Amino acid sequence: MIDFELTPEEEAAVKVAHKAAEELFRPISRYYDEHEHESPQELIDTLWEKRGEVGMLSLSLAAALGIEELCWGDAGLMLCNPGPSLGGAAVWASGTPEQRDRFLKRFNKGKPKWGAMAMTEAGCGSDTSAITATAVRDGDEWVLNGEKIFVTQGKRALEDSDGIVVVWATVDKSAGRAGMKSFVVEAGTPGMRVEKLEKKLGIRASDTATIIFEDCRIPYENILGSPEVRKLDKTKTAGFQKAMATFDATRPIVAAQALGVGRAALDFVKETLEKEGIEIRYGLPRNKLSALERDVMDMEAHYKAAKLLTLRAIWMLNQGQPNNLEASMAKAKTGLAVTRITQKAVELMGPLGYSRKYLLEKWMRDAKINDIFEGTGQINMLIVARRVLGYSRDQLK
Ligand SMILES: Cc1cc2nc3c(=O)[nH]c(=O)nc-3n(C[C@H](O)[C@H](O)[C@H](O)COP(=O)(O)OP(=O)(O)OC[C@H]3O[C@@H](n4cnc5c(N)ncnc54)[C@H](O)[C@@H]3O)c2cc1C
Repeated sequence: MIDFELTPEEEAAVKVAHKAAEELFRPISRYYDEHEHESPQELIDTLWEKRGEVGMLSLSLAAALGIEELCWGDAGLMLCNPGPSLGGAAVWASGTPEQRDRFLKRFNKGKPKWGAMAMTEAGCGSDTSAITATAVRDGDEWVLNGEKIFVTQGKRALEDSDGIVVVWATVDKSAGRAGMKSFVVEAGTPGMRVEKLEKKLGIRASDTATIIFEDCRIPYENILGSPEVRKLDKTKTAGFQKAMATFDATRPIVAAQALGVGRAALDFVKETLEKEGIEIRYGLPRNKLSALERDVMDMEAHYKAAKLLTLRAIWMLNQGQPNNLEASMAKAKTGLAVTRITQKAVELMGPLGYSRKYLLEKWMRDAKINDIFEGTGQINMLIVARRVLGYSRDQLK
């Protein structure tokens, strides 16, 4: 039976996250929205020091709820939180025990550091099989070439730390998905550089980098996976599928991030109505409700449905149950729900919603990314449709 109960320690950890969101994130939220590409160094140092409490929670229900809280504070600042992040999730999902040790243990010591994942290219985002970056074996090394765009925390992972970037590249273009492998490139490796930083609509505190790989040489051992997965067998896509399984873990986490932004907007609306003495009358028949009450209840229902789907996907992951369908359901629903919730909140609040005096307009901008990265809403709906209808990737595109 599904159980969303937290232990007292977990509850305390979620409360710590909320306090951090309120006291550390909210006060500087507007500043870093308006000063894109400036680094919130003080916050980063504090989060790194306190990472045992708020930053390095393992992938659990409490972790997801902690992430929701931090994003309630500020989703862009939450992404500045030092840690292995998406790069770490990829190493965790696809790496051998030795590789997990080698690449992830560094995140427990020293100065703040970040992990990043570089998959997207100018001509390929949703369609990962179209990747053009190449990895060519040369003796004991791989030589990487290509350009990756929209890499979250790419600059921090490369330039500000001894972090890692997990890069997706093909070892044989003619092999399609079977040729797709992932590689770990350590910060400071010659031939890897940040080309530019993106200027964005939302989550502006999070750096989003274009990274160039030019004859970038890495040890042979940095290809992720067991010898079986590393081998090129044109008839097998096991390596690709294993790497794609990373998303079963990361999509619910992105969904949890989204929930924080949606709840921030919802709380703002409810607090404002309360201050104005406007009561939301629960339990009345629908034809007796005002349009405002109907709208607020609708927002709450979307938020709660999205949250339940998210918690279920994470719970299943923790039970070792396949959650590919549930992870995509959670991600698709949450991305859409928070986009709608924040837009409706701006609409309901009128000038309060549109003014930069308050953070509501910012949350509306921050919400949209949740419907784009880690698989767009449409791609996640496609995965849900394939799973529910029993179609393969090639049968339903
Ligand atoms: C702020 C930000 C941070 C990001 N961080 C990272 C990161 O850290 N690492 C990384 O690798 N990438 C990252 N990305 C890239 C992101 O994952 C891609 O933008 C996303 O996967 C969409 O890919 P695309 O941009 O190529 O769009 P496309 O795939 O070209 O899609 C364009 C539109 O077409 C729709 N579409 C595409 N195919 C189908 C289909 N078969 N059926 C129906 N609709 C379809 C999409 O849903 C979308 O609406 C980030 C992007 C942003 C904006």
